[in-house]
Amino acid sequence: MRLPVQMICPKKKNKREEQPKKYRTLHLYKSTPEHALLMAGIYIHIPFCRKACHYCNFHFSTRLDELDEMVDAICTELHMRSSELETSIETIYFGGGTPSLLNPSSIEQILNTLHRNFSVHQEAELTLEANPDDINADSSRQWKSMGINRFSIGVQSFLSKHLEWMNRAHTAEQSLRCISTIREAGFENFSIDLIYGSPSQTVEEWVADLNTAIELEVPHLSCYALTVEEKTALHKMIGLGKIPPVQTELQAICFEALMHLAAEHGYHHYEISNLAKPGKESRHNSSYWEGVPYLGCGPAAHSYEGNRRSWNISSNRGYIQSIQEGELPCEWEQLSENDMLNEYVMTALRRFIGIQRNVLEEKWGEQSLRRIEKEIQPFVEQGQVIASASGWQLSTSGKFFADGIAATLFTL
Ligand code: SF4
Repeated sequence: MRLPVQMICPKKKNKREEQPKKYRTLHLYKSTPEHALLMAGIYIHIPFCRKACHYCNFHFSTRLDELDEMVDAICTELHMRSSELETSIETIYFGGGTPSLLNPSSIEQILNTLHRNFSVHQEAELTLEANPDDINADSSRQWKSMGINRFSIGVQSFLSKHLEWMNRAHTAEQSLRCISTIREAGFENFSIDLIYGSPSQTVEEWVADLNTAIELEVPHLSCYALTVEEKTALHKMIGLGKIPPVQTELQAICFEALMHLAAEHGYHHYEISNLAKPGKESRHNSSYWEGVPYLGCGPAAHSYEGNRRSWNISSNRGYIQSIQEGELPCEWEQLSENDMLNEYVMTALRRFIGIQRNVLEEKWGEQSLRRIEKEIQPFVEQGQVIASASGWQLSTSGKFFADGIAATLFTL
């Protein structure tokens, strides 16, 4: 059974999906005024963590001696790329890694650079990814005073044994306490990440985690099934037989429980892994899924410009050196019409809104609309997709197969 597991994880939002090399044409990136586009979001990648979680394959380092140099380099990159944005910035997202590990004064340094070089909308959404062990009354107050107005908190579980199993740096007590701390500091807009379906977790324990989040009235939930990525400690341990493999059947039951409980408690399942109370949807992530262009700064950060994607190198030292030498450590690729259509199909199907007929026809023509119409019909007949006058949405049962259905509709 294919699950929403394969869907994009919170931190992969800014991570370009790997494509076969033959489809890629790589170019060295030059920031010039002719590249200026109507970008509306900025992503800042902070590539440091206290500990390496066993399941994680994001770009980060646990060596913290380059923190200050990294912040300076990110500020320089923002300055170097300031001519790429022609419109006001609606969302800023500090992701990683662990942005909350930075001293608040470093976050402020980056925000000041952003304000000096870009036109940031006065009602922009400013999200900081934070781990529970970094959240205290003092840091929360400081983040608030500098304009951060939303958190994405890496809670993952409210049970200590799961946090230990994942090698997280925080405790279950800190998972609980951080929520009251940010509320006391005046933050009402926040999300927590939760992971389900690890071999160490029962369905009952997952439901207990969900119930805790619901009782705490958490306004936004990002819930991901545990995935086993290559080159992670988890992958190695499973390979060596030290821990049992992930059971997809169990993950399917957990996902079903999530859909059921969330609906019962007023959460809008607006994207396959994201659920929000009304008005608390992530503006930044919604922009990604709507294909709004964005600029990504910091090592391994990706940018998207409608028909072009670029990405910085995934090396902290290489990134810092290149920026210090005045070169953007960045490559880019031109997206074909098919690439853009496939991306639309994948992201639209993941969202509540689904694939829209008018978007398909306006952007890719009647022929593409007719092709999708024909190829999606078997899923409609199997009850995995709901067809309407405006387009197609996944049904509850279809959400288990989102990736597989999207892949069937891809064009090469
Ligand atoms: S804190 Fe986040 S980015 Fe860092 S290792 Fe853990 S999952 Fe990965």
